[in-house]
Amino acid sequence: MKIFQLEVGMIGTNCYIVENEQTKHGVVIDPGDEGERIVSAIKKEGLTIDAIFITHGHSDHIMGLNEVRAATGAKVYISSADADCLGQAKANLSIYMMGKTAEFAPADVIYGDGDVVEAAGMKFKVLATPGHTKGGVCLQCDKVVFCGDTVFAESIGRTDLPGGSYDEIIQSIKSKILPLADDVQLLPGHGPATSVGWERRRNPFLQ
Ligand SMILES: [Zn+2]
Repeated sequence: MKIFQLEVGMIGTNCYIVENEQTKHGVVIDPGDEGERIVSAIKKEGLTIDAIFITHGHSDHIMGLNEVRAATGAKVYISSADADCLGQAKANLSIYMMGKTAEFAPADVIYGDGDVVEAAGMKFKVLATPGHTKGGVCLQCDKVVFCGDTVFAESIGRTDLPGGSYDEIIQSIKSKILPLADDVQLLPGHGPATSVGWERRRNPFLQ
């Protein structure tokens, strides 16, 4: 597995392209903005993209969706509780976050807690982690978790937006992330990579 990280858009969202080096197939996680740049990166590596995974429905994680979807023809996955965000500018907060209205076609597949999605010859386990949004998920592939806006290096996602809950996000992290091994890598939706062990010891919200 080879991971490309692209920081996209005004808010600096991490879009991840995950490549199966054996097959040159891959997936895109959170095409947050600058769709053309994401598509260029895919083409440069010569990848066939089999799936687009959305960790949650906020606009800063989906603004590049149309370009990536059109260029790859890949299926789009989102959780049921955040699915309406794609079609509703109000729900994806695009006016508030991007200063413009953005609405998208519905997802192709609804995924949920415990699902294991096979894409590009890799297995991604869906961990429901509500708290930042109602339908926020993390995606685990081997020893890597793509954690959206649930947990950041020494911080957590904000819980003051619609559907957010401080108690819920703490519970999500404690029940879904902290039980994982110390050396599991965490790749958040914003900011630097971290690990389960580091956050267990250093994250001030989890002490
Ligand atoms: Zn968010």
